[in-house]
Amino acid sequence: LPKTRIGDAEIASAVAEELDRQQSQIELIASENIVSADVMAAQGSVLTNKYAEGYPGKRYYGGCEFVDKVETVAIERLKQLFGAGFANVQPHSGAQANQAVFLALLQPGDRIMGLNLAHGGHLTHGSPVTMSGKWFDVVSYEVDADSHLIDMEKVREKALETKPKLIVAGASAYPRKIDFEGFRKIADEVGAYLMVDMAHYAGLIAGGHYPNPVPHAHVVTSTTHKTLRGPRGGVILTNDEALAKKLNSAVFPGNQGGPLMHVIAAKAVAFGEALQPSFTEYGAQVIENARALADVLQVGGLGIVSGGTDCHMVLVDLQPKGVTGKVAEIALERAGLTCNKNSIPNDPQKPFVTSGIRLGTSAGTTRGFKEAEFELIGSLILKVIDALSLNPEGDAEVEAAVREEVRALCDSFPIYSVEG
Ligand code: PLP
Repeated sequence: LPKTRIGDAEIASAVAEELDRQQSQIELIASENIVSADVMAAQGSVLTNKYAEGYPGKRYYGGCEFVDKVETVAIERLKQLFGAGFANVQPHSGAQANQAVFLALLQPGDRIMGLNLAHGGHLTHGSPVTMSGKWFDVVSYEVDADSHLIDMEKVREKALETKPKLIVAGASAYPRKIDFEGFRKIADEVGAYLMVDMAHYAGLIAGGHYPNPVPHAHVVTSTTHKTLRGPRGGVILTNDEALAKKLNSAVFPGNQGGPLMHVIAAKAVAFGEALQPSFTEYGAQVIENARALADVLQVGGLGIVSGGTDCHMVLVDLQPKGVTGKVAEIALERAGLTCNKNSIPNDPQKPFVTSGIRLGTSAGTTRGFKEAEFELIGSLILKVIDALSLNPEGDAEVEAAVREEVRALCDSFPIYSVEG
């Protein structure tokens, strides 16, 4: 349980405040979730003390007998979860998993092709502010202006024209299914590697609700903390033994030193949870909830990018109400609803302002919300945004009333049954 036994009063009090914030606000950030007490206990264990450079059975340090057990369990569970032949559970984060793949498969200056950040891609898929954009020659594909879907024929044309060495499929703000099989066909046609970054969708894939990229991609990366509901971290999967060796060397010693064994233990616990039938039910509910939320918002006059969702994510276009993402994010937080502003395809606003917000149902579903609760949440969001459309400062009375309804809902769905 998240009992704070931290002796340092300053940190203990901030942690207690954060627990209270998580308990009393509704978390709609699509990349967040609420881990189990078991995941947290593993991460807070004595494994944090251990250096274990290398891999199970081949370490550069003594005393690794027990952490070897932990890492082996994590690897085996992860392979089982996604039907993969090889897995690396050491990347400290999703960004580092992606970096390791680039290090394993590319040389500086090679061409990569990913989904444009402004169209839903991730920073590490070629944005000029990241290593991926600075060290590689980046070409991007975009979503269709009308349907907001990835147009595979356009992807193919761009790939044929630019001949990238590696194609990235995967996204941070794309609510629909991605055609991983189609991406592999294109990659094969142009002689490129296909890397799928399934970070956002991993938990839904594990539950069988979203296409599994592992049979199609040369290599798959993921975070472990989004829909997969584990500790913050990254993983890499492949079915190709030769690639697996290169990827292992790229993670350690290529890109990292000692693995975070306490985090790997927490990953193993989360993978064990994801193998349970209840996690399949969880994934189905996450998607039902996202659809319920999208429907209410659409009926209430907001735009929904792509017209709906196939996952945990709803990308909302605020333009019909004349409100920006920046203003909406801040007002919703005042009302106890946490989300993030997000560019929508062909957004006229700058990335720090945006015309959209991104909402996700993973965390709310973990605390027990079903369609009825997400319909209520949708109506509360509309109240706050409708008030903003009349006055960009927002309406303090409306926001205070929504805050009270949020608090009441949160009280009925505690995030941890015994509070610390
Ligand atoms: N890949 C995708 C698709 C993501 O959405 C994210 C995080 O938002 C990452 C990678 C990076 O993960 P991390 O924050 O763990 O580095």
